Amino acid sequence: MVAKKPAKLSAKDLEEFKQMLLKARAALSGDLSQLEEEAFSQNGNVDASEARPGDSADGYYQEFNLQLLERDEETMAQVLDALDRIENGTYGQCEACEQMINKERLRAVPHARNCIECQRLAERRGH
Ligand SMILES: [Zn+2]
Repeated sequence: MVAKKPAKLSAKDLEEFKQMLLKARAALSGDLSQLEEEAFSQNGNVDASEARPGDSADGYYQEFNLQLLERDEETMAQVLDALDRIENGTYGQCEACEQMINKERLRAVPHARNCIECQRLAERRGH
């Protein structure tokens, strides 16, 4: 069997990732406290609107966590770049092999530029 290709992102997916990226951008530019206040004012009902396919996640992928986001210029550049790609319709594509990046990976790292395979290759090469 051929490995199944991740499906193209729907408009709904794109909107979800865009919101994550906007939060990341706010966090990186120092507006996180404001975001947290907003979250609390919604009574903890943050992001409960969406039913997640929890059975597909085997615990390998982490949920995107703003607290774990590296606060450096490179990350900020990647986040801005990802927002650009959402606007021009290329978001979710691996820059190296042009396959769609797995959605679980994007949920953990919405500013990811490469699919997990290419990322691992890059890491092995010492990047
Ligand atoms: Zn790739």
